[in-house]
Amino acid sequence: MTSLLRGLSVIALVYLATNFAVIAAELSYRLNPVEVAPGCYALIGSEDYFSTENGGNIANIGFVVTDVGVVLIDTGPSRRYGAALRRTIQKYAGGLPVERVIITHAHPDHFLGNQEFLDAPIYAGTKTIGLINASGEDFAVNMYRLAGDWMRGTEALTPTVNAEAGRFRVGSHQFNLYQFQGHTGDDLVLFDETCGVLYAGDLVFNARTLSTPHANLEEWIESLEKLKSIPFRLLVPGHGAVTEGNSSIDQSIDYLRWLQRRLNKSFNAGLDLTEVMELPIPRRFASFSLARDEYRRSVHNLYPAIEASNLPPVDQ
Ligand SMILES: [Zn+2]
Repeated sequence: MTSLLRGLSVIALVYLATNFAVIAAELSYRLNPVEVAPGCYALIGSEDYFSTENGGNIANIGFVVTDVGVVLIDTGPSRRYGAALRRTIQKYAGGLPVERVIITHAHPDHFLGNQEFLDAPIYAGTKTIGLINASGEDFAVNMYRLAGDWMRGTEALTPTVNAEAGRFRVGSHQFNLYQFQGHTGDDLVLFDETCGVLYAGDLVFNARTLSTPHANLEEWIESLEKLKSIPFRLLVPGHGAVTEGNSSIDQSIDYLRWLQRRLNKSFNAGLDLTEVMELPIPRRFASFSLARDEYRRSVHNLYPAIEASNLPPVDQ
């Protein structure tokens, strides 16, 4: 090999190595937990939709460090996220084990990090387990399409234990697990009575437009009304900033009621799906993240069922 060729090979190798380093750096989740109350943490996700920029890190994840171990609420959107979460928890829990994982519901931004927590029992509601069994792989494939390389090595692993609603204790913290529905057919909410924090999962969104791919609006509103009777101090929503008191619950109810009215009125006015998608969004919701995108997705998810249940069959 001439010295020129050797020189060029070295340059090529350096170039490749540098680029791999850049790619690796770009694909690292930066997780900064906020201690919202003593021992109770929240990791706040991006308010955008899934993308190759955020690696699907759009949901809020929670964990509680007790004196004997950690309770983890959701595992994030990918195996890579799960690994970063594991390292982060280790840093804050000083080597204590993860005692249990609770998957709030079957959406991919909440459970696709499961692979990194197989040494702990992973709890979820029966219907969540059913939906992940039936559609988990499809959710993962869709995430590969939306978030690309971040998803490498991710498989949809089904939670291992059926969760039952009720109180339980882990070391110094007393918890109460609630089972609701409406955002999906099975939505778990964890109340840490010791620190007064409610991990509400995707039943509650804060200043981020609610997403509805598996929603039943009536049931969702009913569940939100019930949430208000839980004596929490701080609420970690599934998406958006942590809030005090009921403000984010009321905001979520307000949006869902409006959406329900909008869809029904539009049907009664004879509008078709694309016309409904382009109707104006009231100012109090227009400032939410993803206002138009999520609204359009909701029309797409929910309007055909309203049309189908109200239109007479064509052969009559
Ligand atoms: Zn969700």
